Amino acid sequence: MNICKLMSQCREIQHNNKLTRFSDISHLKRLFPSNGNNKYHEGTFLIIEIYDFSIIKNTYGYEIGQEVLKNAAYLLNSIVTIDSIVCRGTGDGIIVFLPRLSVWHQVNSFCEGVFSIFKKPLFISGKSIYIDMSIGAAIYSNNADSLTTVLKKADLALYKSKKDGVNKVAFYYEELQEEVLRKIMICNNLRSAASKNELEVYYQPQVEAKSGRVLKFEALLRWKNEELGNVPPSEFIPISEETGIIIELGDWIIRTVCRQIKEWIIKGYYYTVAINVSQKQIQGYRFLDNLKSILREFDIPPNLVEIEVTESMMVSSYESIAEILQLTQSSGIKIALDDFGTGYSSLSYLKRLPIDTIKIDKSFLDDIVFDSTSRELVSGIIMLGKKLKLNVIAEGVESKEQVDLLERMGCNAIQGYYYSKPLPAKAIESIYLGCEFALGLEGVR
Ligand code: C2E
Ligand code: CA
Ligand code: CA
Repeated sequence: MNICKLMSQCREIQHNNKLTRFSDISHLKRLFPSNGNNKYHEGTFLIIEIYDFSIIKNTYGYEIGQEVLKNAAYLLNSIVTIDSIVCRGTGDGIIVFLPRLSVWHQVNSFCEGVFSIFKKPLFISGKSIYIDMSIGAAIYSNNADSLTTVLKKADLALYKSKKDGVNKVAFYYEELQEEVLRKIMICNNLRSAASKNELEVYYQPQVEAKSGRVLKFEALLRWKNEELGNVPPSEFIPISEETGIIIELGDWIIRTVCRQIKEWIIKGYYYTVAINVSQKQIQGYRFLDNLKSILREFDIPPNLVEIEVTESMMVSSYESIAEILQLTQSSGIKIALDDFGTGYSSLSYLKRLPIDTIKIDKSFLDDIVFDSTSRELVSGIIMLGKKLKLNVIAEGVESKEQVDLLERMGCNAIQGYYYSKPLPAKAIESIYLGCEFALGLEGVR
C-alpha cells in the first residue's frame, strides 16, 4: 500500500471517529468529580437542543434523528477550542463546556456563531435537513457549583430559551428558577381551572361618550386559584397559548359568554359581547364550526358576538387567518381588530381584512392630554377608521379630559376605567342593564 493511500485512510478513520465519538455525560462526570477537584477554574456550560427535534424524529425516523444529533455535535466540535468539551447530555441535548469563557457577551457571540453554522442544512442519507437551535447557558466556577447544579441551571435557561423562540440563547439568573416554577404551576393548575370553578368572565362596557349609553361589552377572563391567588390574564393567557390549553379554555369562554348573552336576552337586554380569541384558538380545529354550533345551541343571533383579534396574528399567518375571518364575518359574527397600532400593522391589511371595528390601543391614548404628537396620531387613526367606514373604539381611557378630547376628534365609542372596570356579570346587570343611561357624562368608577 502506498503512503498516500495510507494517509488518506487514516484521515477517513479520524473523520469517522470525530463523527461517531460523541461521548456521553459519564465523560463529563469523570472530568468534574463531585469533590470539585478539576482543572477547570471557570467557564460556561451550554445545553444545546435542536428546536422541535421531535418533529425531525417523527418526520425522518429515529436513526436519522440520531445522525442529525451526531452531525450537530460534529459541527459544534469544529468551532470550539481544543480544550472545550462537547458531549451528549441526558435526553436529546448536547452539552458544551467552554473553559475560561465566563463573560456573557463573549458567550453570546459564541452562540451567534452556533446559530450561523446551522443556517446551512445538514446532509444526511441523501436528505438536506434544516435545524434550529435553542441554547441554555450557565456560568461555571469551580469554587461555587457542582456539575449537577450548573447543569440544572443551564437546563432552566434552556427551558426559557425554547419559550423565547427559535435560535435563542438564554442565560441563567437567580430569579429564573422561581419564574419557571411559577410557570409550571400555572400550567398544571390551569388545566383544571374550569372544572374547579376557578374561572369567571368579567365584562367591561364600551360606552357612547355623548350619551353615556352602553354600546357593547368586552368579555375578560379572570382566574383565582387557591395556591396562586388571582393570576392576571396577561400572565396565564400567553402560557395557555404556549401549551395549547387555550383551545379548551377558549371553548369554555365562548360557551360561558354565549350562555350569558342568552340570559340577558331572556331578560330583554340585547347586547353584543366581544370575546378575545388567540391565534392558536382561531387556527385550531374547527374554530368557526364550533363557534356557530354554540350560537345555535344557545339560539343567539350571531351579531351579538364579536371576536377580537390582534394585528400581530396577521404577521405570521395573514392568508389563513384572513380566510377564517372572512367566513366568520359572512356568518354574521362581528370582528374587531384589538390593540390597533401596536403590531406590525400594514395599512393594506386594514383595507383587505373583514373588520367591523378597530380598537385604538391604550398606549396611544395615555398621553393625548399632554402630548400633541400622540393627539395627532390618534386623530389620524380615527380619521382613517372613518374613511374605511369602520367603528373606532378608544380603549384604556381613564380621565374626563381624554374623553372630551376623543369626542372632539370624532371618536365617540370609549372603553376604560373612566366609565367602568371589568365587572362580574351580576354587577353589570345591577349597575348598567335596565337603566341605559346610567353612565352619565361624569362616568361611574
Ligand atoms: P386586551 O384585550 O387589550 O384587554 C384590555 C385590558 O385592559 C384588560 O386587561 C382590561 O381590564 C384593561 N383595561 C381596560 N380599561 C383600562 C383602563 O382604563 N386602564 C387600564 N390600566 N387598564 C384597562 P385584562 O383583563 O388584565 O386582560 C389583559 C389581556 O389578556 C387582554 O388584553 C387580552 O389580550 C388577554 N385576555 C383577557 N381575557 C382573555 C380571554 O378571554 N381570551 C384571550 N384570548 N385573551 C384574554
Ligand atoms: Ca381585547
Ligand atoms: Ca386591547
